[in-house]
Amino acid sequence: IIEVMDLTMSYEEHQVLNSINVAINKSEVVVIIGPSGSGKSTLLRCLNGLEKPQYGEVIIDGQSLMDSSVNISSVRANIGMVFQQFNLFPHMNVLENIMLAQEQVRKRSKESSRAKALDLLQKVGLTDKAEQSPTALSGGQAQRVAIARALAMDPAIMLFDEPTSALDPEMVGEVLAVMKELAREGMTMVVVTHEMGFAREIGDRVLFMEQGIIIEEGAPQQLFDQPQQERTRDFLSKVL
Ligand code: ATP
Ligand code: MG
Repeated sequence: IIEVMDLTMSYEEHQVLNSINVAINKSEVVVIIGPSGSGKSTLLRCLNGLEKPQYGEVIIDGQSLMDSSVNISSVRANIGMVFQQFNLFPHMNVLENIMLAQEQVRKRSKESSRAKALDLLQKVGLTDKAEQSPTALSGGQAQRVAIARALAMDPAIMLFDEPTSALDPEMVGEVLAVMKELAREGMTMVVVTHEMGFAREIGDRVLFMEQGIIIEEGAPQQLFDQPQQERTRDFLSKVL
């Protein structure tokens, strides 16, 4: 469902992605780990067309993001993205946050947008917060709303960029639980995270990146227990 070929990207002189090749299958959960500045976020942003790489190709469901005849916004509408910062609209209540893009992008009626939003709030365990302002939520609750908002578009792929990094430790679990459930339901997911326990439990495959290169990839057991590369061992010895 995602195919990345020879993806190369620089900011001025600085090469951030260096010939990345990776293919991600439907319903696969791929976890990306690596040190700060290794290009993890940049790679995610390339996957939904938020960055324009200088070289290489990203193909989503058979459509190349580099092909000028492909409508990037319609491809992007099928890709949900969840960031470290939740970016909920503070002037709307929780329900309205989840309804907005359904009405504006998917052109759904208010009624069906509302019904979908309520369904998703139930899924993330926040039915009682529907009428509240996002500013009144805890970090873990806000992140679950952000996930619900992304899911409201019925995305084929969900991208997560360190969704739990900004949370107090006691709230990490509730967000990971929602992500686990999604994985269990067969969502195709690409997750940048420092949660190695989650990577091991939920990941079908783990990619280790450093300096814009995928140094090593494998099943979690393989990568965590028998890393083949010195640099992977080095990194893991610092974070595990
Ligand atoms: P972190 O774990 O800290 O989030 P990361 O692996 O996500 O790091 P990226 O954010 O992808 O790393 O950044 C990779 C490199 O690209 C870094 O050296 C960063 O300074 C640089 N970079 C990222 N965005 C820009 C930008 N808009 N302009 C210039 N350089 C950038
Ligand atoms: Mg990042």
